[in-house]
Amino acid sequence: MQHIPTGTEVLISYIETAGSTMTRQKALKEQYLFTCTCPRCSKAGQYDDIQESAVLEGYRCKSEKCGGFLLRTTDGKGFQCQGCGLVRDKEEIKRIATEIKLLSEEAASIPSTTFNYEEAIFINKRIEKLQTELYDPFSINLMQTREKILKSLMELEHWTEALAYCRLTIPFYQRAYPAVHPLLGLQYYTCGKLEWYLGDTEEAVKSLSKAADVLRITHGTNTLFMKDLLMKLEEARAEASYKLSSKG
Ligand SMILES: [Zn+2]
Ligand SMILES: [Zn+2]
Repeated sequence: MQHIPTGTEVLISYIETAGSTMTRQKALKEQYLFTCTCPRCSKAGQYDDIQESAVLEGYRCKSEKCGGFLLRTTDGKGFQCQGCGLVRDKEEIKRIATEIKLLSEEAASIPSTTFNYEEAIFINKRIEKLQTELYDPFSINLMQTREKILKSLMELEHWTEALAYCRLTIPFYQRAYPAVHPLLGLQYYTCGKLEWYLGDTEEAVKSLSKAADVLRITHGTNTLFMKDLLMKLEEARAEASYKLSSKG
């Protein structure tokens, strides 16, 4: 959010903004037939743009503690960490990527009519493990897999584990989107509902407040959806203060 002087052109995003510059530009070209020259796309090729793209869609450093991002080596045989210099071999990356691809095909082949959530969770957790080895902790692919696991856990009403996965996805949303973004607000909302349901009222109040702060801006306060959230928040607050007073 920012001040908009009179007469200023107001811009919106046509596509999912969590993506490398190359991915975003490709999507805009294919779906909207233009080459984007927005402030973010104009940074293409600059160091922080290269880094951001490598984090979102690139590979992780072999060293657990490093956290550096990787770029293709000049000889094309591997990917070198820009933090510590370690090189990951192209073949090793290819092996893990192939395994992920096969598992993803397997997951996609489960017929939706007899959808088996347990099976989907099992396969997606194997994918998650491989992706943790392959990609940056803030990679889009890893986040998407965790979202799938979260959805299946919710279907199965495995609330405790669902909350754990919901919490795992929050740092990604915080990093990839502006502070006021509907997806971040909705994720806080899911966490808050789960925390409340599981009896962690204090945490629920925190999460629902964060959700309300974002969603009152992205969704307005007059919608049924928002009224419901604000009522839940009030109830959770009352419950939390009651719990606190009965403890003392
Ligand atoms: Zn752009
Ligand atoms: Zn490194």
